[in-house]
Amino acid sequence: MNTQRVAFITFHASPLAAPGAGKAGGMNVHVRQLARAMGGLGIQVDIFTRQLPDAPDTVVDLSPNVRVVHLPGGAPDTPMEDLFDCLPQFLDNMLEFQRQSALDYQVVHSHYWLSGWVGHRFAQALGVPHLITFHTLARIKMQSRPGENEPPRRQQVEGELMASAHRVVAFSPHERDSMVQLYSADASRIELVPGGVDLSLFRPLDQVESRQRLGLNGGKVLLYVGRLESLKGVELLLRSAAQVDSCHKVRVLVVGADNTPGQTEINRLRNIVQELKLEETVEFVGRVDHEDLPFYYSAADVCVVPSFYESFGLAALESMACGTPVIASRVGGLSTLVQHGHTGYLKSWRCPEAFANSLEIIMSSARLRQSMGQAARRRAEGMGWEQVAANLVLLYDYLGEGRGGE
Ligand code: UDP
Repeated sequence: MNTQRVAFITFHASPLAAPGAGKAGGMNVHVRQLARAMGGLGIQVDIFTRQLPDAPDTVVDLSPNVRVVHLPGGAPDTPMEDLFDCLPQFLDNMLEFQRQSALDYQVVHSHYWLSGWVGHRFAQALGVPHLITFHTLARIKMQSRPGENEPPRRQQVEGELMASAHRVVAFSPHERDSMVQLYSADASRIELVPGGVDLSLFRPLDQVESRQRLGLNGGKVLLYVGRLESLKGVELLLRSAAQVDSCHKVRVLVVGADNTPGQTEINRLRNIVQELKLEETVEFVGRVDHEDLPFYYSAADVCVVPSFYESFGLAALESMACGTPVIASRVGGLSTLVQHGHTGYLKSWRCPEAFANSLEIIMSSARLRQSMGQAARRRAEGMGWEQVAANLVLLYDYLGEGRGGE
């Protein structure tokens, strides 16, 4: 069967939200880029998301063949932990929208567990296959860092969705194996489809020009890109930078915003910078427009991803696409994305000495930085969104023929 029309559900993460601020990050980018690439293949994609005051129109065109459909799903200021109670209203609105527009969705693809709850019921009502990409999973998060806690209901719904969905899309072998181990998921229903990168936006730019543009002069540049929250482990980057021999000649750019109430993470990080006497070294740049990030990646000698956990690690792949090696913790999707010793280094231990050692190695050899950067770009070239979209459409076609089982 040739799939023609797909419903994406991303209840709480609008594809129109600016990434790097608030809760918006990799998942928002993923949904937007994947839908765009599918639209480019001629598939009609409607992305359903909850209506917020800054998106007053119900239907907004995103790109050729792709629309964002905003429907009411709880009051705009509903806290994250109460969003589950808003799902029935959102589901009713989706069913009503579908009835009125008489659109024939052949596949429903949900993103995140909240959307999955809706997607399962929506797909059932339409009698079509349901796929889910979790993006993050409660039990993996809880395992990755002491103090992480997730509600039992989330864990329960995730388990139910793994059992009911026609296919679960996993980003990495680690995610797939964790679903089997932690949720007793059936491995034969899990499909491995890693995320992608916009190769035309994220491409190697001239390092000197990029640095000039950013007002950086001389010295080595270490880069972090992502939201500022404790799971991202930015403290480890700061402590590693403090251990680098030529610390005074290094500039550490921390890109991304902390929008938690009280800005607890950035305040904590600022205190650590003071404690380490790194005020002249570390710059908290704040949120940067996605389109401007290639200048940052290209200006950097190394991009550091010190997360406690990443289901995929979009920032790492963006850096690789810009030809900049990555030093990352050996967790989740990062452990297969980054090729140790080839496109960067994977660190199994969360200690500054280990990270600092790899930083020294890359910073001390321009040739190594260059060859790793080239290898990184080559690896990223096989991971464009067009490829990801094409793989998923094949899966949609297969399931649409009723070959995916119940
Ligand atoms: N990002 C951005 N501007 C910023 C910080 C981050 O556009 O100031 C984007 C970044 O380019 C990446 C995403 O936010 O596409 C972060 O994705 P990642 O998978 O690294 O982390 P997540 O947010 O999913 O935890």
